[in-house]
Amino acid sequence: MARLLEGKAISERIKKQIKEEISKLNLKPVLASIQVGENPAVSVYIKAQRRLSEELGIDYQLHKLDSQISEISLIEFIQKLNLDRAINGLILQMPLPKHIDYKKITQYIEPKKDVEGLHPENMGKIIFGKAKILPCTAQAVMELLKEIQIDLYGKEVVIVGHSEIVGKPLSLLLLDKFATVTVCHIGTYEAGKLEEHVKKAEVLIVAVGKAGLIKGDWIKEGAIVIDVGINKVGDKIVGDVEFETASKRASFITPVPGGVGPLTTTLLMRNLVEAVKIQYEL
Ligand code: NAD
Repeated sequence: MARLLEGKAISERIKKQIKEEISKLNLKPVLASIQVGENPAVSVYIKAQRRLSEELGIDYQLHKLDSQISEISLIEFIQKLNLDRAINGLILQMPLPKHIDYKKITQYIEPKKDVEGLHPENMGKIIFGKAKILPCTAQAVMELLKEIQIDLYGKEVVIVGHSEIVGKPLSLLLLDKFATVTVCHIGTYEAGKLEEHVKKAEVLIVAVGKAGLIKGDWIKEGAIVIDVGINKVGDKIVGDVEFETASKRASFITPVPGGVGPLTTTLLMRNLVEAVKIQYEL
């Protein structure tokens, strides 16, 4: 039976480190959050970010913009915040309204304030193993793996999902640890090869957003399973992996909720501290 790999205790430890770091900074870091239009999911993130900011001694400033704002006006707004020396970090809440191209917009966030690690400059640094600000969810997965002290050298790691925020950066972070990385996605699924790849995973990381996509009996005996997916099924939140059956085969498995989730907002704040250090060359 698998052991549960939970994010809460790791998150508490990282929060403690963040508080200590902030106390040494001699300033109260300021995090600016841009919300375009209204979206219930975004309001939940904002609430969590505001609560954690208060706990850690971070000044959280919310900027609410009209859902009809043009791309150019949004870019101008971001540039204004980029130039404001009082602001240390900038988050653009996703999803954005359909008429705004987020890939284009993220390029306008000052890389030194890009606490989500989405700017091409920060993404590019991952290739060279030099990134100080990393996408939070990819970082969360690495923290969970660190917790169980697994030596990734030569391990068969299979990632399912190749998004910019999870699968792609994660594949590079894992390559840096000399894991043998396979990245699967919708093409793998449609070619009927998902099961074959998942079955060889010594470490399996799934970030798709489809409940029950990964069957429990595909899990290799003793595998480490990290389920990033979040799906609402009825009134329950579940991941992408069939938890009950997978737990019987895996050595470690993350619960959903309670695995990756508790770490992401905390790591956003750790990125903010990194951003302050970069800005002040500390
Ligand atoms: P995305 O929609 O950007 O990407 C989905 C990925 O899944 C793509 O690579 C796509 O090709 C792949 N995919 C789709 N259908 C597939 C299939 N049938 N078989 C194999 N691959 C398939 O997703 P994202 O933003 O990376 O998010 C993925 C999931 O992770 C979502 O459920 C999201 O809510 C969750 N998530 C959780 C956290 C957290 O804090 N726990 C953070 C970010 C994302």
